[in-house]
Amino acid sequence: MIVGAGPAGVALALLLARQGVPLTLVEASPTSARQFRGEALMPSGLAALAAMGLLPLPASIAQRPLAGWAFWADGQQLFQVAEPMGSRRPCTLVDQEALLAWLLDAVRRLDGVKVLTGRPVVAPLLSDGRVVGVELDDGTEVRGELVVACDGRASMLRRKAGLELTQLGKPMAVHWFRLLTAAAEPVTDWLKGQFVTILSSGDSLALYASVYGGVQLGWVQDPSAPVPSSSAEWRERWALASPERLANLLRAFPLQAIHGPVRLPVQVGRLEHWWQPGLLLLGDAAHPMSPVRAQGINMALRDSLLAARQLLPALGQGDTAGLDRALAAISAERLIEIRRIQASQARELARADLLRHNGWLRQVLVASAGWSSPLLARRWQADQAVLRQGCGTVELTLPPDVMMG
Ligand SMILES: Cc1cc2nc3c(=O)[nH]c(=O)nc-3n(C[C@H](O)[C@H](O)[C@H](O)COP(=O)(O)OP(=O)(O)OC[C@H]3O[C@@H](n4cnc5c(N)ncnc54)[C@H](O)[C@@H]3O)c2cc1C
Repeated sequence: MIVGAGPAGVALALLLARQGVPLTLVEASPTSARQFRGEALMPSGLAALAAMGLLPLPASIAQRPLAGWAFWADGQQLFQVAEPMGSRRPCTLVDQEALLAWLLDAVRRLDGVKVLTGRPVVAPLLSDGRVVGVELDDGTEVRGELVVACDGRASMLRRKAGLELTQLGKPMAVHWFRLLTAAAEPVTDWLKGQFVTILSSGDSLALYASVYGGVQLGWVQDPSAPVPSSSAEWRERWALASPERLANLLRAFPLQAIHGPVRLPVQVGRLEHWWQPGLLLLGDAAHPMSPVRAQGINMALRDSLLAARQLLPALGQGDTAGLDRALAAISAERLIEIRRIQASQARELARADLLRHNGWLRQVLVASAGWSSPLLARRWQADQAVLRQGCGTVELTLPPDVMMG
């Protein structure tokens, strides 16, 4: 039984069900639509999809390779780097809602699968210290030899199992906006297909042309600064941080075409053990990630791939001790990559924080950008290896009969 039909849950359901493992997938929400969804897949996540036999994605799922990454500070471009940065595949924006709906549809068509949507799980069922199923909101009990909690960063199952996250870094909040399609065209043209990060005194702004149309804009601000109270104030704050041409485009942007903000509190953390007898946690439930360099979907897919490989020989054997050993092995193996990714994200965030708060350093970089830009670009690119590829030690293969053409 799998709880949660985000990337972790739906990918695991597909991999297990293809092999004839009978399962129930329970999802609280009636649809895969969300107000804001991530859409960047790194080469690491694309490699996981390829290993699952899911690439190329159908053309009906909107997707667009990113042209590159650009960094600005105090109105001056510091450097830019073009994709694919030496990777086999470029970072690609993918309509995650359509991807999840497509995967869920594939799961539904497999024998032995029951998909329950719009049905929140409210508690685990316990017997002799072992998780043996879950209770749904209407009191229905669903039992199975294993419960896999893929119920996201606020995981109810994690909380009810008494598992505590190691908290990493200070909590922060990202304010997300969407600049709606037609009006956003001049901004989209300015972006040139790049993911743009703009650092200024205390604040930072990230924006890119979304596959959902329009521009997605994330704003991280100094926690001590007042939060703007109207779209007009927000727009002026972005403009003040932006280089002149973008600032002019933003100031001319119609207020009614600004959608948001949605304030997303971010607390990064991880479990040091992802399992209890009869229970496994994957994806954000086991390791809520920082938004830095778009890792969450990618790591969730890689969790599921590895979990499927370990679980397939252990499920349905009537050997609970053997199953628990597989859970421990999944946890130990995945922790290696998650620790390294979270450490790399923390380094990126610390560098951005330093620049946001150190005007003198920004001035030096801005003044020297004419000659230092290629050096900065090379240095940044070298630091991205793990965040793009994941750890080289991760085995991204499945037995051939678990692949799907
Ligand atoms: C605005 C935003 C932008 C992001 N951008 C990116 C990006 O560009 N790239 C990237 O890699 N990551 C991105 N992320 C992070 C990424 O979305 C997550 O890390 C990823 O979705 C985690 O997958 P998951 O399957 O573990 O959990 P989730 O996707 O959170 O899925 C959990 C599922 O469990 C369901 N659920 C929860 N509780 C229950 C319950 N009690 N019973 C039944 N079902 C339940 C939820 O409804 C949900 O469908 C972004 C996140 C946000 C919010």
